Amino acid sequence: MKKVVLLTTGGTIASKRDEKTGLLVAGALTGEELAAMCELSTGIDVQVESVFQVPSNRMDVEKLIALKNKIEAVLNDEAVAGVVVTHGTDTLEETAYFLDLTLDDARPVIVTGSMRGPEDMGTDAFVNLRNSLIAAASEAMKHTGVTVVFNEKIFSARYVKKVHASNVDGFAAPGYGYIGIIDGDEVIVNQKPLHRETYQIGDHLPVVDIITFYLGADGKFVKASVASGARGIILEGFGRGHVPPKAVRAIEDAVKRGVVAVLTTRAEQGQVKEAYQFPGGVSDLKRRGVILGKDYDSKKARIKLAVLLAAGWDVSDIAKAFE
Ligand code: ASP
Repeated sequence: MKKVVLLTTGGTIASKRDEKTGLLVAGALTGEELAAMCELSTGIDVQVESVFQVPSNRMDVEKLIALKNKIEAVLNDEAVAGVVVTHGTDTLEETAYFLDLTLDDARPVIVTGSMRGPEDMGTDAFVNLRNSLIAAASEAMKHTGVTVVFNEKIFSARYVKKVHASNVDGFAAPGYGYIGIIDGDEVIVNQKPLHRETYQIGDHLPVVDIITFYLGADGKFVKASVASGARGIILEGFGRGHVPPKAVRAIEDAVKRGVVAVLTTRAEQGQVKEAYQFPGGVSDLKRRGVILGKDYDSKKARIKLAVLLAAGWDVSDIAKAFE
C-alpha cells in the first residue's frame, strides 16, 4: 500500500459556513476533519497532519519556511510515496512555487485547494483532494517538481496561477497549459520539466516587493520600497517591460543602493525583451542595472528573487538564474 502524507494549511477546502453571517470561515476544519468528510481512494495509506488552519491571506514567509521544513522532514521517510498540501487558493501559486524552488526530491509534492467549501453544493473540495492523493501515490508523477492539482488538471508550480476569483476551473497556466490530467483513477502525465532548479536556504527570506506600473506612474513606490528596507524589487512594466520615464531615476537610485531589481511584464503572456530605444524601455533599464525577468509572472519572480537572495547569490548570478 502506498503511503501519502496529507498536510493541511486551511483555506476554503477546510472551511465551514458561519451560521450567523452565512460567510465562509476558511481553515475552520482540521486536517483530520477534512479527511474524514472525504471518500479517500482505497489502496492509499493516508496520514493526515494539520500544519496551519488559516485563510491563505495569512500565509507569510515564516509559514512558508515552516511548511518547507515540515515537508522535508516527511520526505526523510523513504516509505512516503508523495505529499499533498491543501491550501487556500488565494496565494496557493506562491506557496507551490516556493516549495518547487526549495524542495529537492523526485517524489511528488502536490498542492491543491478548492473554490467551493466542503458543505457547498457541487463542491470541488473532495474531488481535488482525492485526485491529489491519487497523483501523489503515482509513479508517473516522479520528477515533475512541485505541482498543483485542480479541476482534474496537473500544473507545474512555475506557471500556474489563479485566473478566476470564484469558478471551479480557477487555475490555469496561460501560454503553457497543464502537464497532465487525472481521469478517474488514472494519472496521465504528458510533460515533465526539462530543467529543474532548487536552492538551499536557511530559515529567513529577505523582503522583495512587487511594484506594478500604470499609465502616468512615477517612482514613488520604488522609493517607498527602498526606504522600507526591501532587498529586492520586482518592476512589473508594460508590454515588453517598459516603465514610464518618470520612474527611471528612482529605479536607478534603487539599484545603486544595492537593491536587486527584476523587470517583468504585466502582459499575461510573453517575455520581457529589448526591443525599443526610449527612456524607461528595457534596454535603458538593463543599462541601469535592472535584471530582465523573462516570462516570469511577477508573483513567481518575487518568490524566486527572494529565494536566490536567501541562498546568498550575487546580482550577476541572479541575472543568469532568470535567463
Ligand atoms: N480566501 C480563501 C483562501 O485563500 C480562498 C480559497 O481558499 O479558495 O484561503
